[in-house]
Amino acid sequence: MTDESHVNEATYLDWFKKMGETAGMPSSAELERILRGSRLRVTRPRLAVLAAVHDHPHADTDSLIGFARERHADVSHQAVYDVLRAFTAAGLVRRIEPAGSVPRYEARVGDNHHHVVCRGCGTIADVDCAVGETPCLTAADDQGFAIDEAEVVYWGQCPQCARRATHGNGNGDGETSNTKVAKKEMDNGEKDRRV
Ligand SMILES: [Zn+2]
Ligand SMILES: [Zn+2]
Repeated sequence: MTDESHVNEATYLDWFKKMGETAGMPSSAELERILRGSRLRVTRPRLAVLAAVHDHPHADTDSLIGFARERHADVSHQAVYDVLRAFTAAGLVRRIEPAGSVPRYEARVGDNHHHVVCRGCGTIADVDCAVGETPCLTAADDQGFAIDEAEVVYWGQCPQCARRATHGNGNGDGETSNTKVAKKEMDNGEKDRRV
């Protein structure tokens, strides 16, 4: 691995290495390279937030603040908000906001992938583009618009919630998410004991 860090940045690198390497996470050198590639100065808050987004796909801002603070204790709420805005503008992270959800962020950008959202617990998972590269962008009739994005959200139940519904008190499939949430709250005590 080559190290092209300047002196200042090398201290960040050392600091970051000390914060523990998680499997599958980009190395600190990679994170720095990603920042520089987008012409963003390498700072501790930026490294902490970028690592958090890479490590926790589809996390919301509050969770990311928590994760970033595990790496950089003094990072402020405002700093995380600002960094997320800068990253989104630079195309480093993608902001998604399924109906009824707070904004969530992910580092998987530029591949036009879609999301499946659980109506029960709100869990979000990635779904590859249904038809290949970006042909979902080809609308049947574009109405003369220059289309640059197709937002597809699949809704349903995650495996855990589906299992809970099956083994629960015979919840039918035709319920709205609201009645499901209400039922879930009523059943919580019972279910916790069962699990
Ligand atoms: Zn669920
Ligand atoms: Zn995603």
